Amino acid sequence: MALERTLSIIKPDAVASGHTGDIVARFEKNGVKIIAMRMLKMSRSQAEGFYAVHRTRPFFNDLVAFMTSGPVVAMILEGENMILKNRDLMGATDSKKAAPGTIRADFGTDVEKNAVHGSDSPETAAVETAYFFTACELNA
Ligand code: GDP
Repeated sequence: MALERTLSIIKPDAVASGHTGDIVARFEKNGVKIIAMRMLKMSRSQAEGFYAVHRTRPFFNDLVAFMTSGPVVAMILEGENMILKNRDLMGATDSKKAAPGTIRADFGTDVEKNAVHGSDSPETAAVETAYFFTACELNA
């Protein structure tokens, strides 16, 4: 298995409900190494750029409004098979359908307010980590 890096975002719902620490702890308890972390509030254009792949979807405007509604915590996670491992720890997109014990089941609400983002492929992980962090900001 390859050592991989992926982007994780603790979304505004989970930051606002006070679950930042729980989610960071969930990663650390599962052996995930966090090599960069920053709290920020995305601008509308930053959120639109980040989710550009979804711009034709009916929920795009709602998604951008949600992601700019408050601060988020962006992180780069590193580990073996990290992209898929993070998706497993996160659970399914819809928090109501996510498997018990996953981050989205435990800290999300529905298909939109689902607590965390995680890159879904090596290609998106490369683009998304660079969207939030420069090479100089990686503690690795
Ligand atoms: P993910 O990779 O599991 O995050 O899922 P997607 O890439 O399909 O969707 C990106 C994000 O858009 C999700 O994490 C949700 O926050 C939001 N989203 C997905 N589907 C819906 C939907 O049907 N309605 C709304 N309002 N938001 C959605």
